[in-house]
Amino acid sequence: MRASAEGLRRLVGAMVKAGGSADAEADLVAEHLVDANLAGHDSHGVGMMPTYVRHLTMGLLVPNTKAKVVKDDGPALMFDGGRGYGRAVAGEAIGAGIGRCRQLGVAVVTLANAHHVGRVGRYGELTQAARLVSLHFVNVTDHRALVAPFRGTDPRFVTNPVCIALPATERQPPILLDMATSAIAMGKVRVAKNEGHEVDPGVLIDEHGRPTRDPHVMYAEKTGALLPFGGHKGYGLAVVTELLATALSGGPSIHPGNPRAGGIINNMLSILIDPGRFAGVDWFRREVDGFVDFVKASPPADPQAPVLVPGDPERLARERRLRDGIEVDAITWEEILAAADTVGLGRAKAQALGAS
Ligand code: NAD
Repeated sequence: MRASAEGLRRLVGAMVKAGGSADAEADLVAEHLVDANLAGHDSHGVGMMPTYVRHLTMGLLVPNTKAKVVKDDGPALMFDGGRGYGRAVAGEAIGAGIGRCRQLGVAVVTLANAHHVGRVGRYGELTQAARLVSLHFVNVTDHRALVAPFRGTDPRFVTNPVCIALPATERQPPILLDMATSAIAMGKVRVAKNEGHEVDPGVLIDEHGRPTRDPHVMYAEKTGALLPFGGHKGYGLAVVTELLATALSGGPSIHPGNPRAGGIINNMLSILIDPGRFAGVDWFRREVDGFVDFVKASPPADPQAPVLVPGDPERLARERRLRDGIEVDAITWEEILAAADTVGLGRAKAQALGAS
């Protein structure tokens, strides 16, 4: 099924509204999920709606929740997301952080107990639009573990994404590194299963700890595990990300001393920096421009695949998908229609909205 961004936004907006959200929250969530598809990250796009609806019906996702200020102390801002839609509560927390960073030059924002914040790069884009640098460390819990530690054979944590965002200069578009610390995001295993293809080697192990390319091992009764990216280095980054996201925020890490209800909780530590308060904006631009030009001038090994910097693939995907539409595989589409039914929108109406 090929859909337009507009049609998918209408469909997701209607589903979120039918789940009890006010119009503004429904529009925000719809924009966020469809934007992830446009950026090329189908793992975090409209295919998340069946999970969101399941969590709504279980009371593990609470519509119309505002981020609650836990502490406001100079550069330190702490929020609790109260299982609200991640995009809504994280947007509020980052918005407050941007204001504080403009005043003080730095701000450190924690957000505990948000429901799924989705594509973390979106929060980096918010700080980029304010011409700030930001670093985001996110853990995932309330959920079964998915990723095995380096040298381990079973899952002990989830995909703990990291995002580092630098604003655009006059010449260079913004640089946005935004990635799971697992070899691939779990949503990409779901997409591989739904589209019926194998994952790359080095990404998964089966329930016995043996390498496999079969995405179904993550859906068996006794599951296999994703591997961290980059061996011990990616594993090390996953460990500190879990702890930075939780130990400072008051949000739970995934160890068994904390409850797990079977939803998704994201905790996030965000560090915001105003380049104007450090070496200055002129120096910042000079270094970004000079370095990016130099790196991109490396002759490509494959002439069809030039050197890129983080953020380029998402920009290219956006151009392509805005022009050509967004492909939603048949299983994901069916799951979305079933979720639309659960939430009371009805399959026929959902189908019509998605195709509009
Ligand atoms: P990925 O493996 O596609 O990596 C994406 C990053 O690599 C981007 O910064 C991209 O610009 C960069 N990149 C890709 N190709 C490049 C190239 N040739 N040159 C330079 N840079 C390049 O992404 P992923 O790890 O699958 O993560 C996908 C999304 O999942 C992210 O948006 C992440 O925030 C999200 N995520 C969210 C959660 C959550 O719980 N909320 C958990 C895990 C992941």
